[in-house]
Order: sequence, then structure tokens, then C-alpha cells
Amino acid sequence: MRDRVSVDSVAFARDASELRATVAIADLPRLHDVLFDQSGEIAYGLTGAVNKDGIASLRLEIAADLLMTCQRCLGPVKFSLKSARKFILVPQAQALGDPAEEPDDVERIHVDAELDVAGLVEDETLLCLPMVAGHQPGECSPPLAEGGESDMKSPFSSLAILKRQ
Ligand SMILES: [Zn+2]
Repeated sequence: MRDRVSVDSVAFARDASELRATVAIADLPRLHDVLFDQSGEIAYGLTGAVNKDGIASLRLEIAADLLMTCQRCLGPVKFSLKSARKFILVPQAQALGDPAEEPDDVERIHVDAELDVAGLVEDETLLCLPMVAGHQPGECSPPLAEGGESDMKSPFSSLAILKRQ
């Protein structure tokens, strides 16, 4: 695994820093089980800010074309991921509070002097992926092992032939 990028989250916000990079899916092991394969990468942008009340936050945007496994044909199906979320930085000593009280696109995380940026991208990707993926109805058919019905005679018709003999 390559070196992971880490940032001091408070300094990053205070300096209004900006980081744009990509991370390879091969380097995000928690995605391997949910994706079709380990190809591709995720582009992300991380920007820091401190608002007028002194509240530090990070904004993470991610975008990627990912391959998930179609639940019908078990083949690859493309999923275009695009998401943006704001992370409010909460001092270590403070509780994060109830996530239900925050809007969907805002989350609270603890201040971290070595925030693992790829880990944050990985978390965000897992949150955004659909539970099940599939092609549009009619665009694919199940693998033959599931029973290709049309050309096969039903077991009852061959039974009828046996009885006649
Ligand atoms: Zn399919």
C-alpha cells in the first residue's frame, strides 16, 4: 500500500487549505467486497474553512465511476458516484452529539492531528453506494445456471412421453 495522505484537520481548516487528488480503489480495502473489482480511482477535493463563529470544518467532495456487481446477471454495472459533505470539527473532549440533529450533508468528526484522508474518502464512498446494484430491467438476464426457461421442455412434457411408451 502506498503512503496515506494525512492532514492536521484543525490547521487544514484554519489555513483554508485545499487538497485535490485521487486515491486508487486498490488502496481502499473496505471497498473491495462491495465493488465488482479493484480497478479505477476516486477523485476527491478537501477544503478547509473556519466560519465567523470560529467553527472549523472540512468539506469533502468525491467523484468516481465505480463498477458494482449486478444482482441479476452478476456482471459489472457502472455507478457514478458524486457527493459532497461537510465535516464539522469537534474537540476531542466534546461529544459528537446526535447525528439525527444534523442535516444529511453535515457530519461531526473529532479533531485529528493526523486525519487519514483516504479513510475519510473510503467512509464517504461506503455511505453513498446503493445497497444493491443492477442493470435496468430488460438490459440483462440471469446467468444460465439459474434456469434458461424458454427453449427447454418442461419436465412434465418429457414425463408425458415416458408414460406413452
Ligand atoms: Zn445485469
